[in-house]
Amino acid sequence: MNPTIMKFGGTSVEDANAFRNVAAIVRAGVASRPVVVVSAIAAATRSLDQDLKRHVSIARELLKAESCAAFELTVAVARREIRQLHKIIAMHPVTHPPLQDEIVAYGEQLSSQLLAAVLRENQLAARYVDARRCLRTDDSYGSAGPVPETAPATVAELMPLLESSRIPVLGGFIGSTGNGVTTTLGRGGSDYSAAIIGAALGAREIQIWTDVSGVLTADPRIVKKAKTIPVLSYQEAAELAYFGAKVLHPKTIQPAIDRRIPVRVCNSRAADGASTLIVAESEAAPQTVKAIAHKNGITTVQVSSARMLGAYGFLRALFEVFDRHRTAVDVVTTSEVSVSLSIDDAGALPELLPDLEQLGAVEVEERRTIISIIGEGLRNTPGIAARVFSEISDINVAMISVGASSVNLTFMVEESRAAETIKRLHYVCFEDERAGSAVKIDIAEEAIA
Ligand code: ADP
Ligand code: ASP
Ligand code: MG
Repeated sequence: MNPTIMKFGGTSVEDANAFRNVAAIVRAGVASRPVVVVSAIAAATRSLDQDLKRHVSIARELLKAESCAAFELTVAVARREIRQLHKIIAMHPVTHPPLQDEIVAYGEQLSSQLLAAVLRENQLAARYVDARRCLRTDDSYGSAGPVPETAPATVAELMPLLESSRIPVLGGFIGSTGNGVTTTLGRGGSDYSAAIIGAALGAREIQIWTDVSGVLTADPRIVKKAKTIPVLSYQEAAELAYFGAKVLHPKTIQPAIDRRIPVRVCNSRAADGASTLIVAESEAAPQTVKAIAHKNGITTVQVSSARMLGAYGFLRALFEVFDRHRTAVDVVTTSEVSVSLSIDDAGALPELLPDLEQLGAVEVEERRTIISIIGEGLRNTPGIAARVFSEISDINVAMISVGASSVNLTFMVEESRAAETIKRLHYVCFEDERAGSAVKIDIAEEAIA
């Protein structure tokens, strides 16, 4: 039988009790041949000493004297090495991306060693594996991507353990270059690690265990009544993650699609409760609107120029500017004489602007929020855009984009009105009984027609 990847996020290992829950979940899944991937312990403080003390106090609560002493030694060595790295960085005024990655990687290295010890304490045959031996990456420190050597390296490291009924335990988020230098995959990257490892092993399922009951109809921090979405297609999940649903790292879905591996998002605090299954589109019916995603802190840039009218090469010149300054563009809308773009990371804006001004008049708006309504139902349900915009007719909406992927309707609002917009849209899409049936009737009529 193919293995199952079980990835536990930071809040799933935030304290001793959370570790106990993880042990119970792994125990319950032993027959599915688990490979465990774990994030750094959550809510890490800014103080190295306090962080390390938390690891030790969890170890003291959960481990017997001998294994606890071994883990405390690991922590002491880590403390010394991290101090050394900080000293090197302080001595050299230039930035040291590889050393930064080396330092942050200790979070995942320690949580995975601690979890392996806790699982063993619970009579599970767990083995710590240094994830850097499996996940081989390029050298884009801070947001590295996997290279093809990852698959054979992962198989070589993990298959012998699985074949002898061991449970490999690896840190997420971290990898190493061909030269053995530590890299990290970017914020929230442990989900991505789990998917990469799952694809390499041809896993049966990739499970993302987190602190909420699956992927919800909206961010629960904004919408208290957000509900679990039972099934999502890969494309819906990818759009949701890309447009801000923090529950999944945006790159998580691709490795799963490549090998057609189902992804399940579950709650480590309520293991038997609701969860979300993410599968290929054909298996993900029924077709309805599934969720509202949002992403704050967006900057929009509008470039207007009469030269654009009927000319070719303008868009290429425009995108070349963003390319040159290594700035990713999320949403694009165009009119005859202007192009609007949204960017998530406006760090390079001061350098970008003079180049853009060569092309036309530039207008920048900050503190915007991208809101995305997502669902396969948008493909062939008439009237959804009308309902959405009539509900928020008093809110200024910009950069409306629909149909680019056929499963999302995206637009921009001012950040100060985002929460209100999301709440109102959630009400019409998911809470108002009449609205729900209107959408369903439309689908039914479409199906009959
Ligand atoms: P982990 O530490 O397990 O990786 P994250 O904090 O990265 O967990 O992601 C889970 C959080 O994502 C949830 O606690 C929730 O606040 C947030 N979130 C945002 N949008 C959604 C959504 N649509 N569904 C579920 N959770 C969401
Ligand atoms: N610890 C890393 C982060 O906080 C990776 C992860 O948790 O997914 O971004
Ligand atoms: Mg996460």
